[in-house]
Amino acid sequence: MAGSAPRVGVLALQGDVREHLRMLEALGADAVPVRREAELDRLAGLVIPGGESSVMDKLSRAFGVAEPIRGRIAAGMPVYGTCAGLIMLADTVLDAIEGQRSFGGIDIAVRRNAFGSQVESFETDLEVPALGDPPVHAVFIRAPVVETVGESANVLASLPDGRVVAVEQGNLLGTSFHPEMTSDDRFHRRFLETVAAVTA
Ligand code: GLN
Repeated sequence: MAGSAPRVGVLALQGDVREHLRMLEALGADAVPVRREAELDRLAGLVIPGGESSVMDKLSRAFGVAEPIRGRIAAGMPVYGTCAGLIMLADTVLDAIEGQRSFGGIDIAVRRNAFGSQVESFETDLEVPALGDPPVHAVFIRAPVVETVGESANVLASLPDGRVVAVEQGNLLGTSFHPEMTSDDRFHRRFLETVAAVTA
């Protein structure tokens, strides 16, 4: 679908880039890995993958894309972040390493590695009312939790104990878990719908 398909990038400094590219391409998007400012200029949307947010932060500054990404976020570009990507989209990061920064954009505070070392990874079926049935099979890997949700952000999903794990604010979407590691493409579809609405 090259030509008519929107070009969306996956920030490819570090993390599970390939899984996102595959899912976006399967949905008909023109999906490209992005590392440089010039590549960013041509995008209609951006996915920030899972990985390690402190490394992504350092690399994004070293590659000179941190400020341009902040600028595009402020200008309304749709962005979807999973896990470390959600951390990068949070206005406030708790348990960050010294000097760690996020791009920001979503009015939330997230806590890194919030499930502790005993329960580093787990999977669960999660009700996501905005996506309807069936529940989303959510894969959590050293995942963050959204601890504070500001007025501008909307909660899309919470664990049964109330901890918030998916949020949306305007054109920004973030999940603590990794849909790209499953066959459930509904969050990616939602992101591409936002991209289509913005580009229309
Ligand atoms: N713990 C990682 C971080 O702080 C996130 C883990 C993930 O993306 N699966 O960035």
